[in-house]
Amino acid sequence: MSKPVAVVTGGAGFIGSHMVDVLIEAGFAVRVVDNLTGGHLSNLKQHHGNPDLTTEWVDIRTLEPGNAAFEGARYVFHLAGIGDIVPSIEKPIDYMDVNVQGTVRVLECARAAGVQKLVYAASSSCYGLADTPTREDHRIDPMYPYALSKYQGEQAVFHWNKVYGLPVNSICIFNAYGPRVRTTGVYGAVFGVFFRQKLAGAPYTVVGDGTQARDFIYVRDVAEAFFAAAKTETVGERFNVGADNPQPINRLIEILGGDVVYVPKRPGEPDVTHADITKITTMLGWAPKVPFEQGVANMLSNIERWNDAPLWDPNSIAKATETWFRYMSKNEG
Ligand code: UDP
Repeated sequence: MSKPVAVVTGGAGFIGSHMVDVLIEAGFAVRVVDNLTGGHLSNLKQHHGNPDLTTEWVDIRTLEPGNAAFEGARYVFHLAGIGDIVPSIEKPIDYMDVNVQGTVRVLECARAAGVQKLVYAASSSCYGLADTPTREDHRIDPMYPYALSKYQGEQAVFHWNKVYGLPVNSICIFNAYGPRVRTTGVYGAVFGVFFRQKLAGAPYTVVGDGTQARDFIYVRDVAEAFFAAAKTETVGERFNVGADNPQPINRLIEILGGDVVYVPKRPGEPDVTHADITKITTMLGWAPKVPFEQGVANMLSNIERWNDAPLWDPNSIAKATETWFRYMSKNEG
């Protein structure tokens, strides 16, 4: 019997590469579709030489129905996309092209292949400055083009279910963290920023007073939620995925140890994110397994990985977040 096949778009990326790990371990043949802009080949080096992993290095915006990577696939995990707030404010066309139109092309490939399930990576940014704990039926209020593009991508996914009967589910990710979290490029993702500062012995640039909290969820737990959303008979649902346990930034500082320097609170930033995960725990039997301290320790055991990451300080952060302050302050209060 040949192995069941799964496609992972964005499979060379942070969450996508953990998705590949989960699927290979579960006995799938995995096909990665990635253009290696956000992702990196080194994220898949643990599978080097494994015939069960094949790769197609293409931009999802160029996919056509009938694409060979999707042929015979049982599941599609759609994790390809572009992230980060500031560049999305500066380049909204790119974000809508990749995250919405690119998603439509992935949907068409999945439909042509007759897959059993497509699972979409949605973002908790769709809820805006949300009431907490946040349920899936919370009002939608994207605050910047990245959030809008991820939400509209999700709308397309549900539309393909409604019109074409494509079986889909959506995983709404809160703050995913863990090994292979992106380190290069634009300012963002607190772990990359702090780990590089720790390596350099530089002070941690804490935003505001550091009491703000995030529902950090370990990346392996996220990948397992995607797998559960594929295997279930349930179709057409969004499931929040967080740890249901918000951690203040000051707690992260306490674990890492070292000096801090404070940078201004950014407009439109939630004081706390907190996923209500009742739906996924009751409907899919998924639960977060890796405690925050354990997850951070796993990352610290490979901290040298952040040696090449950019080193941020209050000045470079002020410059990098200029657009953010300019466009987002007027939406406040
Ligand atoms: N943060 C911080 N210093 C930094 C970058 C981020 O204190 O240099 C904080 C930020 O205020 C937020 C948390 O870390 O509370 C997570 O930030 P990130 O940008 O990773 O995610 P998001 O703000 O999108 O939840």
